[in-house]
Amino acid sequence: MQSISLLQIASTLAEFFEVHLTSQARAVEQILTFAYSRKPIPQVVVLIVIDSFDFRFYSDFADELKSIHELVKRDGLLFECETVSKHTTPAIGSILTGLKPEDHGILTNDDVGKSKIKSILEILEDEGKPTAAAIETKGAKPLLGKISYVFAIDDREDIFEYDELIKKHTISVLGKQDLRLVFSHLRAIDRFAHRGWDLSVAAKVTDENIRAIANAVGERNGLLFICGDHEAHLKDRQSSRGKAPATVPLIVCCP
Ligand SMILES: [Zn+2]
Repeated sequence: MQSISLLQIASTLAEFFEVHLTSQARAVEQILTFAYSRKPIPQVVVLIVIDSFDFRFYSDFADELKSIHELVKRDGLLFECETVSKHTTPAIGSILTGLKPEDHGILTNDDVGKSKIKSILEILEDEGKPTAAAIETKGAKPLLGKISYVFAIDDREDIFEYDELIKKHTISVLGKQDLRLVFSHLRAIDRFAHRGWDLSVAAKVTDENIRAIANAVGERNGLLFICGDHEAHLKDRQSSRGKAPATVPLIVCCP
């Protein structure tokens, strides 16, 4: 399994869609070869970030994450990605810009929308390739009027209801034939980790949501990217810190 960085996702998408992105991170050739070898070549990419989905979580909850593991087994690519932050906002900023947090400057919720650096979503949109995002309202607001389809989901106590809405919008926007890239953010695993709740429950629900999204991507002959944003906020992760840098999985497949 190849080791890469989360920063390479945006670079790979930029190269695939033939748009310019200002980033030092290199596109992942293996993903480009995989995408170009499909017949027909995928017209739409779905990028799902699963909050707190780190590499250990992916392995430890293999039984609950059957659909995700199946996507890898059935002709998918799996990478281990170095993370760039321990927090959601800067990590997602990096996934969408290909820049390190200190270079994109989006470190807290207050910085969202103030950065002059464009995300891959906005860059594609500016080049006439429509994009979509299904994310939390605070992250969605700055994108309003800048990309074609914005689904703003209010944060709420019922995180399964939240993820259900993200899934629903992701699947429904795939009906737009002009769509080229959709970015969505699932949060149940992170919420359960913070609360100390049973993670196997969150893993099963997340896996079910991914299964439904993967089916919809398959119907569009699309390309599906699934990754984590940072290591899970769990006590055992804290104690292991310092030994090896945290990694998250990146899965690329044509379901
Ligand atoms: Zn997060």
